[in-house]
Amino acid sequence: MVKAKARPTPTAAAKSAVAGGGEVSTETPRRSARLQQAAKKKRSRDASLPPAPAPARHRQAGKVLCAPEISDKKTVEGTINDAEIESIVLKLWNFTEEERVPYYNRLNKKRANMALAWYNENNPEDCYEFTSVLLHDVCNFCDGGVCHVHINFKARNVTTNSEDLFFAELALINNVFDQYSGYTTTACCIIDGNCLGGLRNVLLNGCFLREERYDEKNCYACDEKIKHPTGSTYKGGHYAEDYLVQGIL
Ligand SMILES: [Zn+2]
Repeated sequence: MVKAKARPTPTAAAKSAVAGGGEVSTETPRRSARLQQAAKKKRSRDASLPPAPAPARHRQAGKVLCAPEISDKKTVEGTINDAEIESIVLKLWNFTEEERVPYYNRLNKKRANMALAWYNENNPEDCYEFTSVLLHDVCNFCDGGVCHVHINFKARNVTTNSEDLFFAELALINNVFDQYSGYTTTACCIIDGNCLGGLRNVLLNGCFLREERYDEKNCYACDEKIKHPTGSTYKGGHYAEDYLVQGIL
């Protein structure tokens, strides 16, 4: 229960502070109250002035730097926190191809930002921010009953300002009703000149597979244009006979 503005107890000093002196009995407590009010206003003004130096130091704080950079952009479409795009995609089946493109671009941007957040967390010496992803630099496929995404995107090193090409793998292994439709990042790394394109075309052209069914060094789900790291840093696409490729559009 809140009473209408409770009056202070009727001491001489308090009456002085509230009523401006009309009910004051002595000069000393009125002056004291005014001085206190003036000091309070000054503290309030001072407190509102200098927030600038703190963020400046914060930006130089290494790993911590990445979190605010991402969260600052959460209202921009296609970022890691863009939950709306997940529900929009479910309604796209009646759209024309041209109508779907902007939504898939937005979804791919979100997936890239998800992967980049994973990379920054696992590589605290680096800090990258997303710059671009092309629609056809993404491959969606199922492997072993799990939906995967292999994606190439570009990101900028906030320290050196250099732009690098990334490969990332996301897999649908969480709750499909979460804000990422169940996808989580399982691999993300910088691609250098020593990369391998996908070998999907090898299968489509009827070429014989190598003898071993599992090829840890190559991906048979993606086209050649999707660049993969060498080695077995990602999980999907290695079982050459086993995958089901799904077109993006
Ligand atoms: Zn692949």
